[in-house]
Amino acid sequence: MTLLEENFLREIRRNSEVTDYMRYPPIGTFSVDCGPERVRRSGPESTGQNCHASSRHEFIARFPNEQTMRVTFLGTSGAIPSTTRNPSALLVEREGDRLLFDCGEGTQRQMMRFRTGFDVEHVFLSHLHGDHVLGLTGLLQTWDFHERERPVAIHSPAGTRGQVEQLVSVSGGRPTYPVRITQVTAGDVVLNHEEYEVRAVAVDHRTRAVGYALVEDERRGRFDREKAEQELGIPPGPKYSKLHGGTPVEHDGRTIQPEEVVGPARPGRRFVYTGDTRPTEGVIEAAEDADLLVHDGTFIEEHSERARQTAHSTAREAATVANEAGAKRLAITHISTRYSGSAWRLESELQESFTGERGLVAEDGTQLKIPYPESDREFERTDHGE
Ligand SMILES: [Zn+2]
Ligand SMILES: [Zn+2]
Repeated sequence: MTLLEENFLREIRRNSEVTDYMRYPPIGTFSVDCGPERVRRSGPESTGQNCHASSRHEFIARFPNEQTMRVTFLGTSGAIPSTTRNPSALLVEREGDRLLFDCGEGTQRQMMRFRTGFDVEHVFLSHLHGDHVLGLTGLLQTWDFHERERPVAIHSPAGTRGQVEQLVSVSGGRPTYPVRITQVTAGDVVLNHEEYEVRAVAVDHRTRAVGYALVEDERRGRFDREKAEQELGIPPGPKYSKLHGGTPVEHDGRTIQPEEVVGPARPGRRFVYTGDTRPTEGVIEAAEDADLLVHDGTFIEEHSERARQTAHSTAREAATVANEAGAKRLAITHISTRYSGSAWRLESELQESFTGERGLVAEDGTQLKIPYPESDREFERTDHGE
C-alpha cells in the first residue's frame, strides 16, 4: 500500500469517527465538506465516505504529488471570549496528521461546529495563560469517554509541566490512554516527522512561552518522463524510480545520472504560529519566506501602549514582522473584544502595512489551504460561519 493510500484510509477512518460522534446531537442535518461543493446529507447514518472518496481520488488525479495542508482557526479571541470569537486554538491538518496549537476553553465544541473532527495526536501549547489551555481538560475527558487508546503528546514550554499535569488530572484521575507531556525550549525540534519538523520558536510574552514552526523537508525534483522515455530511450519501469530516488542506472551501455532526468529539489512549506507575543527577532527568523505566518494581532495602533503593557502586538506590528521575514501570507488572531464591532480597523491597518501576497484577520471558522510554492493551486480562504 502506498503512503498516499494509507493516508487516505486513515482519513476515511477518521471521518467515520467524526460521524460517530455526531450521533450525540439531535438527529438533523449536517454537511460534509467535499472541497468545492458542500454536500448536504441528513441523519446520523450518512457517513459521507463515498462523497469524500470521490473528491479525494479527483484530487489525487489532479495533483499527484500534492500533500494537503489546511489551517482551521478554532478560536480567535484575545484573553476574553466574545459571542463570535472563542479563545485561542488552531488546527493544522497535513494529510493524515492533525496538530492542535493551543486549546482555549470550548475548543472541542468549535471542532464539532467547524467539522474538523478531533482526533488529534499532538497538542502544542504556546504558554499556560488560561485563554490558551482551559479547553484541554474537556477535550481529554471526551477522548476518555470515547475509549481512546492511542497516545496523545502535549508539548509545552519548559517549566510548565506541573501546570499541564494539573490540567490533565483536574477532573479526577488520569485518562486511560497514554498522555505524554514534553517540555520544549526555543530551537528544539519538537516533532520529527519523515516529511516535516515542528520546531519551537522564541517569542516575547513575558512568561514561559514559545511559538511553533512547521517546516517541511525539501522534496525531490520533478522527474522528466518525456526526456527519459523519448530522448534517452529508457522504458518505464523500476529504473525510473531508481533515478528519481537519486541512483544512477545503466542503460544502452552507458550510465545515466539522476540529474539528467530529475530537476532541482523543491522547497517545502513553512507555517509559523506565534501564540501571544510582542514583535520579536525570533519570529522574524523563524518566519523567513513563510507560506503562512499566524501572528498575535490583539490591538490596533491607537492602543499600542496597551499592546506593550500586556506583551501583545498590534496589527501593524504583526505586519512589520511579516514584512521583515518576507512571509508570503499573514493572518492575525487573538483579537481583543474591544473590536467586536470594528474588526475592520484591524483589517485596514493590516492591509495598509503588509506588503506580502495576502493578509487577513482570522475569524472563528476561517480555513486556509496552503499550496506548495511552485504549485498551480491557489491559496484558498473559506469561512465556516453558522
Ligand atoms: Zn492569550
Ligand atoms: Zn498570554
